[in-house]
Amino acid sequence: MNSADGGRVLVVEDDDAVRTAVDRGLGVHGFDVSSVPDAESALSAVARRRPDLMIVDVGLPGMSGIELCTRLRGLDVDTPILILSARDQVGDRVGGLQAGADDYLVKPFSLDELAARMHALLRRARPSGGATSVLSAGPLWIDLDRRVATIDKIRLDLSRREFDLLATFAANPGIVLSRIRLLELVWGYDFDVDTNVVDVFVGYVRRKLESAGALKLIDTVRGVGFVLRIA
Ligand code: CA
Repeated sequence: MNSADGGRVLVVEDDDAVRTAVDRGLGVHGFDVSSVPDAESALSAVARRRPDLMIVDVGLPGMSGIELCTRLRGLDVDTPILILSARDQVGDRVGGLQAGADDYLVKPFSLDELAARMHALLRRARPSGGATSVLSAGPLWIDLDRRVATIDKIRLDLSRREFDLLATFAANPGIVLSRIRLLELVWGYDFDVDTNVVDVFVGYVRRKLESAGALKLIDTVRGVGFVLRIA
């Protein structure tokens, strides 16, 4: 008996222990899971039957997980792909997203987090998902419900306030927002804070955007405030 409401998932992972754990864990979360140990087997599995979602380890024997993403996208397979990478493979993570993966998770990860990410990817992939509160402005993509912000598909690691600030900019692209307005919108009635706090947090957000490769997205308008510039 298989209550596969979660969707059909293909796991591509050469590490038996991880594969078994993911198989079992995702089964409990309602996914119908099958797994293969390498990219070549994944390509034939996908050709036989298109999964709803794929989980792809970066470090595979032979063809890497990143090459696999590129191959699949080249074959017009638009199945959402979540890549798994080791902590020291930052470059691979970015490469994976550039190769067409939709999200990534760093090992070791919790199955709950994996399942949550998978549900989110499936929701995004299903157009009938209903009213999701997603903001997109230029390369920015912000899911207000899940509180996930990405730029060019690179996930930003933001604190609560940084997220709120970036979301406010994304909701008002091209509009100059004064420090006072930002305080109202982001800090609410917490008016003990100095307007300097806005500059400080804009600085934090800029640095995170820049480290994700987005330069000069938030401009300072002298004597007025800040504006999100999108092409
Ligand atoms: Ca591996």
